[in-house]
Amino acid sequence: MLGAPSGHPPDIFDAENQTLLAARAAHAACPSSAQEACGQALGDLILAYERLLRETRRLVRRSDRAELEMNQMNTRLQDLAAELEHRANHDPLTGVLNRAAVIELVNQHFGREDLALIVLDIDHFKRINDSFGHPMGDRVIQGIVACLQTVVPTTAHIGRVGGEEFTVVLPRHGGAASERVAQDLRHAIEAYAFDLPDGSSVTASFGVCWGPAGSDFDSAYGLADEALYVAKRGGRNQVRLATNTLPSAEHVV
Ligand code: GH3
Ligand code: MG
Ligand code: MG
Repeated sequence: MLGAPSGHPPDIFDAENQTLLAARAAHAACPSSAQEACGQALGDLILAYERLLRETRRLVRRSDRAELEMNQMNTRLQDLAAELEHRANHDPLTGVLNRAAVIELVNQHFGREDLALIVLDIDHFKRINDSFGHPMGDRVIQGIVACLQTVVPTTAHIGRVGGEEFTVVLPRHGGAASERVAQDLRHAIEAYAFDLPDGSSVTASFGVCWGPAGSDFDSAYGLADEALYVAKRGGRNQVRLATNTLPSAEHVV
């Protein structure tokens, strides 16, 4: 049988098999006078060749297995790298961006366009932890993120920048429009069923600022945080727009 049967992959050693068959036929046809010398040498050669073929087949199978394993490991490595990258940029409790990722994102956007930054902080959150325990506090944090996710525009980015402090980044949004988004968020949180054991509601305070292209995270966050502080001092559960403004791009050196 010279060729591979149909439906099977071709044997890469077809040529060698044919050589072997020809050698066997020649060996069998050797005249008895020549059997002693030439026939013996041909027989030895056939045995050595057969051994070599078997060994080579084993090596090919082993190398195929190694290649398959390497491909599987490579896929796993790519999955792990993606998972690692996700973990480096996201908050494990809520799945939103972490502080470092928000800073990088905001600075990237400021490199090419204006944006508004909303900073919000849960009101009297310590009371929730102290009264109902840390796990309940964690569920409230997750509920806040659920509220943010249902309300913010699709172009917005949500981040957790502190224990119970969050940001919403709104690229190319003006201050007034962002103040309205913050009010919608405030209402959504106020109305959300956090299911606290005493039936009380949860509220948050908001600071909003707008910055032109060329600004940076630290300056924008500073202004939004000042506005948030005013909202806290003003009685909490309210939105304040920063009164100071960041310098426009032409003034930024
Ligand atoms: P204010 O209205 O002024 O913001 O008061 P507050 O009680 O919310 O603020 P405070 O800074 O006094 O307390 C924040 C608390 O948040 C303290 C800290 O233990 C808690 N906290 C921080 N991170 C987490 C977290 O991941 N899970 C839980 N359950 N609590 C957290
Ligand atoms: Mg806080
Ligand atoms: Mg707080």
